[in-house]
Amino acid sequence: MKISEIGEFGLINRISRDTIINPKNILLGIGDDCAAYYASPDKITLITCDMLVENIHFTLSTCSPRQLGRKSLAVNISDIAAMGGIPRHTLLSLGASSDTSVEFIDQLAEGIKEEAKLFEVNVIGGDTVRSPLGLVINITLIGEVEPDLVVKRSTARPGDLIIVTGELGGSAAGLILLLEGEKYSAIPLNIAKKVKLAHLSPVPRIKEGRIIAREKIATSMIDISDGLASDLTRICEASAVGAKVYASEVPILPAAKEVGKLIKRDPLAFALYGGEDYELLFTVSPKKAENIVKLIKKELDIKLSIIGEVREKQEGIKIENLQGKVVDLQPKGYNHFRG
Ligand SMILES: [Mg+2]
Repeated sequence: MKISEIGEFGLINRISRDTIINPKNILLGIGDDCAAYYASPDKITLITCDMLVENIHFTLSTCSPRQLGRKSLAVNISDIAAMGGIPRHTLLSLGASSDTSVEFIDQLAEGIKEEAKLFEVNVIGGDTVRSPLGLVINITLIGEVEPDLVVKRSTARPGDLIIVTGELGGSAAGLILLLEGEKYSAIPLNIAKKVKLAHLSPVPRIKEGRIIAREKIATSMIDISDGLASDLTRICEASAVGAKVYASEVPILPAAKEVGKLIKRDPLAFALYGGEDYELLFTVSPKKAENIVKLIKKELDIKLSIIGEVREKQEGIKIENLQGKVVDLQPKGYNHFRG
């Protein structure tokens, strides 16, 4: 069945089922002129949005509609994590051609609702339009954070240490295999599966972000969407500081290392420039660094890595490579990586 057969209202009816996960503060969800909810007293509202366009940000040849739905919301949740916040409500706008199948939209909405359920996010509204040129997904996410816990990008200080959660490079390696998989059929299935999963199903670091915020130790934070190099540069520019990263300390997903070896590409480049790992990158005073590493290991069993230090602005943004040579860390990101 095609969308044109059920029309916009039919479509909205299908999407708006089971959208309120946490009804506590909701006055009105989908179905009135506006959604309405009670904002939590004494919290700051965080708002973020992300627009994804078919064949620019994603291609339907590499992911299922369900995976696409989940990831579309996950990347927004990651932005809330990077502020130390909790995601609460989302609005979903979809552009699709009228011959898109209803089943496709059902799966896409299912993916979004699955992710929403996982993080207790209510889908409270949105819009649907006809888009003759392909699928467009626009997600707005509303979250909240205590005013004294919000973590900005602009407040890193020289002398702070730079820390990253989890492991990097998996998403970039996964994207290469998804796009050029037939060239690399010799790669063991379990390894290919791990990196593809890293690309298709990122896990936003909400719990980690909350602990980092709660402990009030981070002087700045960002989520890694465009690559460590680009996103660290964003912190440095916002904070008017420099940085030095040690290549030897950058945590790379073992499966991404394996893929790099097998396809003769540098896995460190996946980690630095690949992007879409959605790990958290933050800075802390050296006195607090070991503690937060231990705390998150203990509470969540997630590895944190100290990868470098914040320097004075005039020292620039540098990386000590594996040969011990200090060079500029170029803010090449995702787009560059994809050529
Ligand atoms: Mg971000």
